[in-house]
Amino acid sequence: MPPLPPPSSETRIPLPPARALVAGYTDVLVVGAGPAGIGAALGAARSGAKVILAERYGFPGGSATVALVMPFMSGHTQESRLRQSGVEILYPTDHGRGTRVIAGVFTDVIERLVSLGGAVPPSEMTGFVTSFDPEILKFVLADLLDDSDVQTIYHVLATGYIQEEQYTTVFFQSKSGPIAIRAHCVVDCTGDGDIAVFAGASFDYGRNVDHLTQPMTHYLRMGCFERTAFMDYVQKNPSQWYGVLGLWELLQKATKEGTLNIPREDILMFASPHPQEVSVNSTRITGVSGIDIFDLSRAELEGRKQVREVVDFLKRYVPGFNDAYLIQSGVQVGIRETRRIIGDYILSGLDILNTRKFFDVIARSTYPIDIHNPKGKGTRLERLPDGQSYDIPLRCLQPKGCSHLLVAGRCISGTHEAHSSYRVMPVAIATGQGAGVCAALSALNKCATRDVDYKEVQSELQNQKAILW
Ligand SMILES: Cc1cc2nc3c(=O)[nH]c(=O)nc-3n(C[C@H](O)[C@H](O)[C@H](O)COP(=O)(O)OP(=O)(O)OC[C@H]3O[C@@H](n4cnc5c(N)ncnc54)[C@H](O)[C@@H]3O)c2cc1C
Repeated sequence: MPPLPPPSSETRIPLPPARALVAGYTDVLVVGAGPAGIGAALGAARSGAKVILAERYGFPGGSATVALVMPFMSGHTQESRLRQSGVEILYPTDHGRGTRVIAGVFTDVIERLVSLGGAVPPSEMTGFVTSFDPEILKFVLADLLDDSDVQTIYHVLATGYIQEEQYTTVFFQSKSGPIAIRAHCVVDCTGDGDIAVFAGASFDYGRNVDHLTQPMTHYLRMGCFERTAFMDYVQKNPSQWYGVLGLWELLQKATKEGTLNIPREDILMFASPHPQEVSVNSTRITGVSGIDIFDLSRAELEGRKQVREVVDFLKRYVPGFNDAYLIQSGVQVGIRETRRIIGDYILSGLDILNTRKFFDVIARSTYPIDIHNPKGKGTRLERLPDGQSYDIPLRCLQPKGCSHLLVAGRCISGTHEAHSSYRVMPVAIATGQGAGVCAALSALNKCATRDVDYKEVQSELQNQKAILW
């Protein structure tokens, strides 16, 4: 059955009038409980602010738990001259030994995951990439939020925003009808910059040339994977696997035989903390927008069709998967890129490749420019020089024209190229923590977010064990 097509006319009818129930007052309201929202809620609460975290699904984690995006990319610098041929299979092979540049909330998440058996401890052997169990991540995040007295409200979809003299109010739709939450200031961690747009902020979308965004991917988890059989195949066919991706010949064979038709040239898959499980990132849905529900509906159908094809391919063609089965696909399709809210500074691809430093740094990153082709096969990867990182300035989190609103995570201010790097989860947690601290200081000092001294934000971030220099 095809999805509902987009409406052919611009006909709009008035909504019935409604009154929203005020569900809470707080210092800082964080909308979206993904990696950025977790960083923001904990950063604000640990600075002494009262915090409410609002999320449309019934659990925290955002793309990590909703779309099964795994693993956490590295928070360490790359040292390719120290590359180790012994790096374990199913982890990126080109990180090697490095220096940690992301800590704070990110480290807390990893340590708790490891202590509950929900993650393989990051090390040189894993390229400092952390594979995790998304169900255990849900427990860990809920515990961290509880420990810092963050109040959570689930099953609420933010739909509006007003800025009044005394309050910043966000409206939500819910099963209980419309509700409102009032705060001194708000951190938009929706990934899509929904709140910033309701507040009237401007945004960029996709690449400059045609405004196309990176493709979407339906992630999947496979169980009963036989690692030894797979390793035997890789050892006998070393040209067919590189760290986390490959199987080019088998893919071509399946495509020729008409059993597989995905717009991607390789299979990309990652280890899990469970030896008999892998997560597979190999579907690709192009030409769809993550902020258009008609596109999203098509993407869900196309993505799940590709999930079936990939599962069949793995089982029929790839040693180690004969008895494997599909454990789960994402609750929703994984969305790499939508709006980038225009802030006081727009981070560029050159800032990243030149490892630029900023006076008002609130987070750092080492992740390369990584653009999956918006039109089909191919991925553009441009790495930072060995041992280097770049800074993300507080100004990228300050939407132009907004006084009591910050953005964090994948919707901060940057170009398409820069976004492809800072979008990864450790960086989203770190920008979230930076935004949370700034929001808390704004609430505690009763001032606009832009009037908070960046040095105070940096000092509090360091108290919270973030690494800024
Ligand atoms: C296919 C794919 C593969 C990736 N691979 C990796 C990888 O291997 N490693 C890595 O580190 N990163 C990876 N990433 C990037 C990473 O997952 C995201 O960029 C990151 O999760 C962004 O974090 P965020 O908190 O900004 O947004 P999200 O994770 O998107 O979280 C946003 C949250 O806000 C909620 N929300 C949205 N709108 C509303 C609203 N209006 N009202 C209420 N709640 C709302 C959502 O439900 C969600 O919980 C990948 C992404 C994709 C899609």
